[in-house]
Amino acid sequence: MDIIIFGATGSIGQNALEVIRCQRESHSLRVKAITGNDNIDQLCKDAIEFKVERVVATNHKHMPELKDRLSSHGIEACAGTEAILETAQMKADWVLSAIIGFHGVPPTLEAIKYCKTVAIANKESLVCAGKIANDSAKMYGTTLLPVDSEHNAIFQCLQGEDINTVRKVILTASGGPFLNSSLREMENATLDQALAHPTWSMGKRISIDSATMFNKALELIEAKYFFNLSDSQLDVIIHPESIIHSMVSFHDNSILAQLGPHDMKCAIAYTMNYPDRNPLPLKEIDFAAQAKLTFEAADHNRFPALRLARWILKSDGSLGAVFNAAKEVALDRFISGEIRFLDMSRLVETVLMLPDITKLEHKIPESLDEVKSINGWVRRITKEIKLNDN
Ligand code: NAD
Ligand code: MG
Repeated sequence: MDIIIFGATGSIGQNALEVIRCQRESHSLRVKAITGNDNIDQLCKDAIEFKVERVVATNHKHMPELKDRLSSHGIEACAGTEAILETAQMKADWVLSAIIGFHGVPPTLEAIKYCKTVAIANKESLVCAGKIANDSAKMYGTTLLPVDSEHNAIFQCLQGEDINTVRKVILTASGGPFLNSSLREMENATLDQALAHPTWSMGKRISIDSATMFNKALELIEAKYFFNLSDSQLDVIIHPESIIHSMVSFHDNSILAQLGPHDMKCAIAYTMNYPDRNPLPLKEIDFAAQAKLTFEAADHNRFPALRLARWILKSDGSLGAVFNAAKEVALDRFISGEIRFLDMSRLVETVLMLPDITKLEHKIPESLDEVKSINGWVRRITKEIKLNDN
């Protein structure tokens, strides 16, 4: 099986390479190409280990080092966003879309046109361009598989089931580092506190998004497009142990849940081997030691991102792209120390309420260019908004 990994140096990308290390001998897996941003050392080491054909770095400044380290191994070195897009055109059986943020959207859409199966970790692709991705997958006969643990769980629960019998999909959320914090504590939360996720080990940006629950908000929108569900069919429940990855409730009130260790290799391997299951050397869950699984309602007051997500779920237009762009800028502004933790959701809410933005509620984007222009426009607006001190 030929594989391409977009975002190979990240948390998901590295987990995928680990799965391939475990399974490549028995399942003749061949990594054709990998891409990365700035971690050139990791990129080169992986390229040599996996004997890839092509390596792409986003920034042209890395070309001399890539060429220097890879040419003697017969590996093609490339750089730039165009080269990332062209890599999708190399065609593969299984492509992993694991670039973080909006930068991952164009290569995902390109891969859908050229590759057999696209495993989507980059949730921004469906949040910003869900209809375009689904229409294109239908047109090109491409299979889209969910890597996000919640969506992967839902997908597993739906095997052999009729989607029309689904009453509700319940996404679980760990609650992140501020599950038991007061509003005042969250107001003054530091970057280090926001990064300290209690159960999952993830990249920096998604860890902070988990602390605000913007990650769960994006996942609600992602689920809408992955499974063609309405707002009223989507729920979130806090489950701090992160053992149940999500649940599906059917018309007859039966509920199926998928459980597993909190290790992204499970979901990645499931999409890589689908519809088969192959062995993975992970630690088994010890239920006796675990003793209990707990649940609680999500607090929309302390986690306004969940409330904001409902606006987008109720609309069918371009608000997903707006929401994501505003959230990405809010996150940058928090990381740089310019705004406080709870200002991130205030900023996104301010953007969503702008009269020019509400007009986009029912304007479904028809092309990637349209999505890109909304993304660029909203990013400019969000950078300039000043929040009143309160
Ligand atoms: P990460 O920050 O660890 O890695 C991101 C990857 O994208 C790296 O390879 C990086 O080099 C690359 N990248 C960064 N900026 C880029 C740019 N401008 N152009 C091209 N490439 C760029 O992120 P991650 O945690 O692995 O998450 C990747 C995606 O998977 C995200 O969309 C995230 O929401 C999703 N996801 C992650 C997890 C997780 O456990 N980490 C779980 C579910 C979904
Ligand atoms: Mg998730």
